[in-house]
Amino acid sequence: MWFKRDLRISDNDALEKAAKQKNPLICLYNLDEERLDRKDVDGIHIKWELDCLEQLKFELEKLGGKLIFNFGNIVHKLEEINISYGIDTIYSNEETGLKWSWDRDKSVSEWSKKLNVKYIEFPTNGIIRRLKSRDNWKKYRDKRVNHDITPTPIEINSPSDLNSDPIPEIEELGIFARELINRPKPGEKSAFETLFSFLDERGRGYRKGMSSPISAESMCSRLSPYLSVGCITIKQIIYHTKRKQRKVKQDPRSSKNLGFSTSLSSFQSRLAWHCHFIQRLEAEPTLNDIAINPELDKILIKDFDEQKFNAWKNGMTGWPFFDACMRYLKSNGWINFRMRAMIQSIASYTLWLPWRDTGNVLAKLFLDYEPGIHWSQVQMQSGVTGINSVRAYSVIKQSQDQDPNGVFIRRWVHELRHVPDEFIHEPWKMTEVNQKKYNCEIGLDYPLPIINENDSRKLGIAKTYSAKRDPAVKLRSKIVYDIHGSRRKSNFKKIKN
Ligand SMILES: Cc1cc2nc3c(=O)[nH]c(=O)nc-3n(C[C@H](O)[C@H](O)[C@H](O)COP(=O)(O)OP(=O)(O)OC[C@H]3O[C@@H](n4cnc5c(N)ncnc54)[C@H](O)[C@@H]3O)c2cc1C
Repeated sequence: MWFKRDLRISDNDALEKAAKQKNPLICLYNLDEERLDRKDVDGIHIKWELDCLEQLKFELEKLGGKLIFNFGNIVHKLEEINISYGIDTIYSNEETGLKWSWDRDKSVSEWSKKLNVKYIEFPTNGIIRRLKSRDNWKKYRDKRVNHDITPTPIEINSPSDLNSDPIPEIEELGIFARELINRPKPGEKSAFETLFSFLDERGRGYRKGMSSPISAESMCSRLSPYLSVGCITIKQIIYHTKRKQRKVKQDPRSSKNLGFSTSLSSFQSRLAWHCHFIQRLEAEPTLNDIAINPELDKILIKDFDEQKFNAWKNGMTGWPFFDACMRYLKSNGWINFRMRAMIQSIASYTLWLPWRDTGNVLAKLFLDYEPGIHWSQVQMQSGVTGINSVRAYSVIKQSQDQDPNGVFIRRWVHELRHVPDEFIHEPWKMTEVNQKKYNCEIGLDYPLPIINENDSRKLGIAKTYSAKRDPAVKLRSKIVYDIHGSRRKSNFKKIKN
């Protein structure tokens, strides 16, 4: 059983089938060496995986299973195992990743064919392999994610002379990971504790609380890091959410639960988005490199401006709310959806920075890095898909809406901690006397805004709209819609007309 991004024993089709067959079973996890050189991979990702793997090893051993750990090339490791034990079948779950992971899986497939070893992959979540048309996607996805949960094996029969490998600390592998504050607890058990704490109470205010970084921290589900390494499946989350939805409806105090009901419906929509976006990567594994609408990308030429890039990356733009969000993200490895969209759209529209570079920075910052969602969203928030609305966030509006009293800003931008509400969103408007009074000289203690935000954003929007009108771009957008577009009626009309 070759574990990839499916670090769980429950609802794991490959493991269930592998445990049922008659031969002794070896469980293998391979940390692909080539990942360490990738621009989108960070030490925090590897550390998280290894910590989740430690939990998986514990659960497997309870069932009698043994887990081999390897850091290197998967085919070399399979060769080695084959020499010692003779492999009959390799079981694994499908992974929708970037091109390098497809190439890796292809090399395993070729190796197994050459050696007459069976290689069986099982589908996971709502991603449909070899999908012919997006028109049918929802039907297949719903069927898949509403299917019964796959039972957990009750016993694993591993070779008697085999011992599990110790799971190394990342330092032993020469990898560095920055310390995160509030990092979630690793493993499958913690994934379920997180899900139930959300469905029991935290999710009550999800709908209203998801947009502000202050409330989102506790009101969002926080399941994304678990989903990214497969400690839990979308099917399991949907199963428990539906049960909760039924319970909330039946509750005699259900009028009080109205908000909870709406929150749970919104949550279900996000779970569908998860699969919708990963399905895009399934169709085009080069999303980190090639724009969904390359014609549009060609027109929207963006030069790499190092000064703007560094200010953006380091949370030193001089826009307090933006800087607070960036610094929070760096420390926590997580921020809510609205703020991620704002951070990327400011990079692409306001600062006019190339999306591949900023996308890689964000990939490394997110503990929950999921290539299919990530690169689809980076492209969407950069206006290079041609099928999504142009949405360029105003940092001042977001600041006033999501942090009206500057609580979040003062917590994360210490330079501004004495600045009163009146100036907290636009401290550059303070007089020199006030700057002295509030211990923050703009341009000295805290930067002046890197550029005029309002003018630059409007210019970015105008250039993007103009590019979208190009006939070649429009033509490509229609093709893009056929492959990737959500089949919501409003979207259909917009693109087809
Ligand atoms: C530029 C950008 C990059 C992003 N990169 C990632 C990423 O690498 N990994 C990742 O998991 N999410 C990513 N997202 C989507 C979203 O921000 C996160 O899924 C969410 O913030 C995770 O927190 P949560 O689990 O508490 O979410 P909740 O709001 O509780 O949602 C539950 C789950 O639904 C899915 N989901 C929620 N929002 C979205 C969305 N907009 N699109 C697709 N699926 C969604 C996720 O799997 C999430 O875990 C990105 C968004 C943007 C704008």
